[in-house]
Amino acid sequence: MAESEEDRHLKLTGEFDCDPTPLSTLRHSTSHVMAQAVKRLFPEVKVAIGPAIEDGFYYDFARGEPFTPEDLVRIENVMREIAKANLPFERREMPRAEAIAFFRERGEPYKVEILEGIDADRVSLYTQGDFVDLCRGPHVRSTGELKVFKLLSSSGAYWRGDEKNPMLQRIYGTAWLTQEELDQHLWRLEEARKRDHRKLGRELDLFDFYDIAPGAPFWLPNGMILFRELEKFARERLDEQGYQEISTPMLVNKKLWEQSGHWEHYQDNMFKLEVEGEIFSLKPMNCPEASYVYRRSLRSYRDLPLRFSEMGRDHRNERSGTLTGLVRVRQFTQDDAHIFCRPDQLLDELTALLDLVREWYKTFDLQPSYKLSTRPEKRLGTEVQWDNAENALHEALRGNGLAFDVDPGGGNFYGPKIDIDVRDALGRGWQVATIQVDLTMLPERFALEYIDTDGQPKRPVAIHRAIFGSYERFIGILTEHYAGAFPTWLAPVQARVLPVSEKFMDYARTVHLKLRAVRVRAELDDRNEKLGYKIRDAQVRKVPYMLVVGGREAEQGTVSLRHRSGEDLGAVPVDRVVSDLTAEIAARLSSLTVGRS
Ligand SMILES: [Zn+2]
Ligand SMILES: [Zn+2]
Repeated sequence: MAESEEDRHLKLTGEFDCDPTPLSTLRHSTSHVMAQAVKRLFPEVKVAIGPAIEDGFYYDFARGEPFTPEDLVRIENVMREIAKANLPFERREMPRAEAIAFFRERGEPYKVEILEGIDADRVSLYTQGDFVDLCRGPHVRSTGELKVFKLLSSSGAYWRGDEKNPMLQRIYGTAWLTQEELDQHLWRLEEARKRDHRKLGRELDLFDFYDIAPGAPFWLPNGMILFRELEKFARERLDEQGYQEISTPMLVNKKLWEQSGHWEHYQDNMFKLEVEGEIFSLKPMNCPEASYVYRRSLRSYRDLPLRFSEMGRDHRNERSGTLTGLVRVRQFTQDDAHIFCRPDQLLDELTALLDLVREWYKTFDLQPSYKLSTRPEKRLGTEVQWDNAENALHEALRGNGLAFDVDPGGGNFYGPKIDIDVRDALGRGWQVATIQVDLTMLPERFALEYIDTDGQPKRPVAIHRAIFGSYERFIGILTEHYAGAFPTWLAPVQARVLPVSEKFMDYARTVHLKLRAVRVRAELDDRNEKLGYKIRDAQVRKVPYMLVVGGREAEQGTVSLRHRSGEDLGAVPVDRVVSDLTAEIAARLSSLTVGRS
């Protein structure tokens, strides 16, 4: 794994050994200025470290009480004064021993501790105005270059991330090259808070979590509709592609895991139980059992490829402290599949698979990006097998006209792979799909065979792949991506009929029944409430369409159509609403089209 900016800062030397970008240099320089401002306002505070991080920077300080929001405002104001003073960042070198004495004298124990851990004779110090810091650099030339920055929050953080160490106070900030970029970033942060799937999941009655089952969601009726619609979408695609669906047991004897190697390498992540004196485990993945299905009968070259899909309900023993909403869970449902093919079929299978992935994500307006990971140093299989598999992945990517990154050496020990990230509406990346070629693990451990044209038994190649990744995580991503305003085909309630008063209830019922008859998920709001209240309530619930009905509508056989955005589309004949709505749902369109033409 690449060394993080934080790790590098804990091993400072006199060399410029990192590869800083202008933006990370700016952010890191801003952290120095923040430390300077903190020391000016709170001279008793001790300074620890202040690296640049993704989208910003932080600095850790030793201080008895936490910083308040008012403290952050004062600190930011002093930072602006320092920026205005346009102080140069001045570098000087000194022997390490001298630097230790220097910081000891200034009463900075964390700097002394860092210096004691450095394996270098000389170190560098940077000074701007009255503030000196131990640092490898680089920095901007002077504090006048800091124009666009903002302090965001403060929280406790253990020194060096170790809970046995003292708790420090960390202040997070962000810095950008232009005001526009900063505004964009602040908007994204605010949007991300509003879109948090844990919050929306509760507000929209999609799912909930209870202490009795950490890391496992309770799916509520509305959330179950999302789940079912995604399953339906996936099954339709897979049926078209010639997959065969299987379902394998969740509770499995440990003998299987010994054969697959999971018992040796993955035991700590598995939930174990004793049943009639034998050890069983809840499956953490579906691969070994898919191999059992393959082995049921003697396979010939003519039977391949075999594509077994499975909505696999898996359990992994994640530490309770790491569980996060639907994104990090203990129980999840993979949209898994294992494809068993002959080596000469690999390219066609991978090409079809990438085509499927590309089409799949169009439906959700998510931008996929692809990363090819090639042979690692420690690996099983022959060089010829690896050459063929890597070439097939390359060719399949090119054949689909896809741009991709390469991670040399990042493959599994049993084969190369492609990982697929998607970018959501806020520009955030999420790892979802994976396509892993398996040259040896399942084929060798489970002695998989097919009889080839020459009458000899051969080993098939296996492909492990998931496209959503897991339904749970993907629903979490979609909830944030759409901010809970799901496209009509996914929306738990697709339309609500709103009578303006009791008098028009009969007509409202007729409209409601027409929608229900074509299986549109429609509700009738028959509460004795004002129309304005009913409209607001439907908007809060993010119902795509509101069909308002009163005297004129009843007379003309129309509805007054509104979108959840607040847009009023006026009178539309009921029959047209019904036909346009069913067409929009059937086509799984992501925008609201009814009443537009
Ligand atoms: Zn620095
Ligand atoms: Zn697998």
